[in-house]
Amino acid sequence: MFHMIDFDQIDLLAPVPNGEPMRQYYFMKLLKNWVSKREEELGRKLTYQCRTFGCQMNAKDSEKFAGMLEEMGFVSSEEDVVDIVVYNTCTVRENANQRVYGHLGNLKTLKKKHPDMMIAMCGCMMQEPDVVEKLKKSYPFIDIIFGTHNIFQFPELIQKRIEKGSMVVDIWDGTDMIVENLPSERKYKFKSGVNITYGCNNFCSYCIVPYVRGRERSRNPEDILKEIEDLAKDGVVEVMLLGQNVNSYGKTLEHPISFAELLKEVEKIDGIERIRFMTSHPKDLSPELIEVMANSKKICRHFHLPLQSGSSRVLKEMNRRYTKERYLELVENLREAMPDISLTTDIIVGFPGETEEDFQETLDVVEKARFDSAYTFIYSKRTGTPAATMENQVPEDVVKDRFNRLLKLVGQTSKEQTNRMEGMTLPVLVEEVNRQLPDYVTGRLEYNTVVHFPGDASLIGKIVNVHLTKAKGFYYMGEMEG
Ligand code: SF4
Repeated sequence: MFHMIDFDQIDLLAPVPNGEPMRQYYFMKLLKNWVSKREEELGRKLTYQCRTFGCQMNAKDSEKFAGMLEEMGFVSSEEDVVDIVVYNTCTVRENANQRVYGHLGNLKTLKKKHPDMMIAMCGCMMQEPDVVEKLKKSYPFIDIIFGTHNIFQFPELIQKRIEKGSMVVDIWDGTDMIVENLPSERKYKFKSGVNITYGCNNFCSYCIVPYVRGRERSRNPEDILKEIEDLAKDGVVEVMLLGQNVNSYGKTLEHPISFAELLKEVEKIDGIERIRFMTSHPKDLSPELIEVMANSKKICRHFHLPLQSGSSRVLKEMNRRYTKERYLELVENLREAMPDISLTTDIIVGFPGETEEDFQETLDVVEKARFDSAYTFIYSKRTGTPAATMENQVPEDVVKDRFNRLLKLVGQTSKEQTNRMEGMTLPVLVEEVNRQLPDYVTGRLEYNTVVHFPGDASLIGKIVNVHLTKAKGFYYMGEMEG
């Protein structure tokens, strides 16, 4: 539990501080008193649950919600009925919204039986004005609705809800604020995500993220390094540097530094043994970054480089700002510098106007790039994005056929690619006891490939050498050395 601020410093008789995060610590302390009074009345602890949808950025925000709730005295619970539930939503594809409405149906029934249960809705979906209007009208039992720009205000919004006695809605259009030193309750003891940027300025024509996560802003390097030093002291050996486009880190700083320079500083932190990062945009992949990665002892040899389409014509329509040739050149540069590198990607099938020729270009890149794995998506029309109003939306049956052909090819090339380490002995960071085989543990190579081998829970969080006895498509079976 990261707790940067000493509660005893906070005087509840003094005026509410204006500066953040002290203002929120003031409300956390105030609510701590409220929680203990409720506990006496109910004769039990108050419980919370964070339901997280979408990406690692959301998962990181949920760790902050959990950290703030724990500071207030709530305890985590997996029960259906809790005293406060937070839905941290995603809106990257249409079906993500539908899933949330499905959950809200169940919550309505629960809330009827448990009127004191507090329901908070936040995350990217709440940045869509139509969604908020729909929630206010059709789901009046929701207690708090807030967005992606003011997650730090969570304690203050709970206090407002208690005082007001009815729904509190607080959505910001945007912000240039970055609030540091909030409590955080991370999911894993031995690894942690670390935000380095928020928002995105790329405006890929199919993507809703820039509209819901706002303009790109980089955290100060000192704050990032301090957080990672504290994580290392707290037992973390692997960090995942997070941003919509980590390659453009530092551009918005008063004293700009590059992502490659930041990585060099993170490399110096004792206790951190593995450094990962996500997500990189090909247009900002610099030779400097490739060089720093190649010379590093800690940066994992796994690079996630979203392609989206292999057709330069479609890439232009997507506003991706690189061509097929440039993408393959980057793949070549990465492989030249690090022949053992594991490359993964994202590919969209069925972007408006995509022809069979365009799709053949995508298959050609998959053949040539030989990805270790690829996340493949069927294009999802997102209201509010330029692509949503484009002509020539591709018929569903055509898209499905292409999607199946792509899956087949990715399956073939990835399997060959992923199996290349069979017989080698490599370091594995042990993550958990295997869910199917209780006498086995599961971990990851630096290449991000999963390995299962005999072992017990005492190995969790440790990096051990494992002999990879059998490749099984997208994972290995192994034996621990020594
Ligand atoms: S880089 Fe493009 S796809 Fe990624 S979050 Fe930004 S706009 Fe979306």
